[in-house]
Amino acid sequence: MPLEEALERILGGARPTGATEELSLIDALGAVLAEDVISGIDVPGDDNSAMDGYAVRGEDLPGPLPISQRIAAGAVGEPLQPGTAARIFTGAPIPAGADAVVMQENCSVDQGGLLSVEGTVTTAQNIRPRGQDIAAGAVALSKGRRLRPQDLGLLASVGIARVTVFRRLKVAVLSTGDELVEPGTADLAGGQLYNSNRFTIAGLLARLGLEFVDVGIIPDDAQATAKALLRASELADCVITSGGVSVGEEDHVKAQVEQIGHIDLWKLAIKPGKPLAFGAIGDTPFIGLPGNPTSVFATFCLVARPFLLKLQGATDCRIPELTVTAGFATAKSSPRQDHVRVRLESGDEGLVARRFANQSSGVLSSVSQSDALAVVPPGVVVSEGDKVQVLLLDLLA
Ligand code: AMP
Ligand code: MG
Repeated sequence: MPLEEALERILGGARPTGATEELSLIDALGAVLAEDVISGIDVPGDDNSAMDGYAVRGEDLPGPLPISQRIAAGAVGEPLQPGTAARIFTGAPIPAGADAVVMQENCSVDQGGLLSVEGTVTTAQNIRPRGQDIAAGAVALSKGRRLRPQDLGLLASVGIARVTVFRRLKVAVLSTGDELVEPGTADLAGGQLYNSNRFTIAGLLARLGLEFVDVGIIPDDAQATAKALLRASELADCVITSGGVSVGEEDHVKAQVEQIGHIDLWKLAIKPGKPLAFGAIGDTPFIGLPGNPTSVFATFCLVARPFLLKLQGATDCRIPELTVTAGFATAKSSPRQDHVRVRLESGDEGLVARRFANQSSGVLSSVSQSDALAVVPPGVVVSEGDKVQVLLLDLLA
C-alpha cells in the first residue's frame, strides 16, 4: 500500500482518548492543549516605549523643550505637560498626551537641561500599542496545540500558570527477537546483538512528550508473544513492537495480533521498512514496526509519529517537508517510496542533499550521521541537481 493511502486510513482511525489533566505551565512542554486558551488581558497592557529616549508631543517639536518627568519601566508617569518632554525607558508606559518617542541617540540635552531633537518625528513612532501582541478576549492558543517553548512563554505573558491538556499517552514498547541482549547486561555470544530499537523508540516517544512503557524483550515464540502483547495492551494506550512482523517462521507478532485482536493493514510500499503492521488488540491500537533499526526509525517517523500525535489530540500531525537540491542520483526507479538518508550542505543555490554512502536498512549509522530523509516517490528517478523533498530529522526526532 502506498504511504499516503496508508496514512489516510491509519489517521482516520485515530480516536483521541479525550482524558485531560491540569498541569502547571512549567510541566506542560510537549503536552497538547485540551481547550482554547482565551486571553483575559491586553498584551502589552499599556501603550509603551520601544526605546530609551524621550516621549514628546509632535506639535511641540523641534523644541528646545524642558524635561518635565522621568518614567522607567514598571512606573506610571503623569500626563505630559504641553511644551515639555518626558525622559522614558524601554517598556515604560507612554504618558497621556505624548504621541511619539524619540530615541536618545537622536536627542541632545543642553547645559540648561533643554531637549533638542534631530531629524523628523512621525506620530506614534517608537510606541508599542496596547494589545498589539494579544488583545483581551482573543484566542492566545487553540485546542490541539502541542506546546512548544515559545508557546509556554506566550501563555505566561497572558497570565496563565496552569493549563488543561490531554493526558499524556502511554505507549508500550516490545522488542522481539531471540538474538537480542540489553546493552550493559552481558557480553554478546555468537549470533546475538544489542537491542538498539528499544532506545531509538524510547527517544522518539520522549521527543513527542509521550510516556514510554517498557515491556522488554520478547522471545520468538507464539505463546510468549501473545501473552506479552495482551499485557502491553492492558498497560498502555498504544502498543508498538519491533521485529517479527515479516513472513519468516520466527515472525510471530502479526499472527498473534490476528489471534487476540486484528490487523487492518500490513506492508507499506516504502523503503526502508516494508513489513509494517497496523491494527488493534481490544481497544488498544497496535503498530508493528519492522526489526531493522533504520526501518524502525523511518517507519516510526513516517507512520507512528503522525498517528500518535493525532491520538494525543494534536491538530497538527503533518510531517513538515523542505525542498532542496539533490546532490545524488538514483540508478533506477522503484515501486516503493524511498527515504534516502542524506546530509544537508549549503551550496551556491541553497541546500544540497548528499547521500550517506551505505543505505542498507541494517546500517543505523546512516540515520545517525544524517540530517534528513530525502523522499524519492515511487516510479521517480532522481538526477543530480533535481529538486527533492526532505524531512528534517531534527523536526521528526
Ligand atoms: P525481524 O523483522 O525480526 O526479522 O528483524 C529484522 C532484522 O532486525 C534482524 O536482523 C534483527 O536481528 C534486527 N533486529 C530486530 N529487532 C532488533 C532490535 N530490537 N535491535 C536491533 N536489531 C534488531
Ligand atoms: Mg526477529
